[in-house]
Amino acid sequence: MSDDCIFCSIVAGELPSHTVYETEETLAFLDANPLAPGHVLVIPKAHHERLDELPEELASTVLETLYQLVSPVETAVEADGTTVAFNNGSAAGQEVPHVHGHIIPRFESDDGGPIHAVAGSPPNLSDDELETIADTIADRT
Ligand code: 5GP
Ligand code: ZN
Repeated sequence: MSDDCIFCSIVAGELPSHTVYETEETLAFLDANPLAPGHVLVIPKAHHERLDELPEELASTVLETLYQLVSPVETAVEADGTTVAFNNGSAAGQEVPHVHGHIIPRFESDDGGPIHAVAGSPPNLSDDELETIADTIADRT
């Protein structure tokens, strides 16, 4: 637990939350400032700042909890779909430095955008540049 972390305080029961699902290692609760009714956050109970800092097994467990919740969230609020995403790091808009996945219910008429709308100025990359980037990523896996 990190002493000054809001989500750790929720896990510890020191701050209230509208819990919707809990496992030994994960917790899911309503977002306090929802982008849609039924906007849920899924967190590991252990404090880790970024997705890539999670131990591998815990990362799988967090995904499992997201998977378990997508259908209940959609049916509960009669959504047409969901955007499921992580803001990973402050450059990506992560404000609470405790890993959390968002499940945001989406409606045909909600005037929202796809995940492609998050980038400021998308680059126009040549096939060679794409190949170089793909190789560089592959070298690091
Ligand atoms: P981020 O921008 O870090 O990906 O998202 C953080 C989310 O946490 C925001 O959607 C925000 O509304 C939510 N949030 C911040 N503080 C609290 C809180 O104390 N309780 C709950 N339930 N959600 C919070
Ligand atoms: Zn924390």
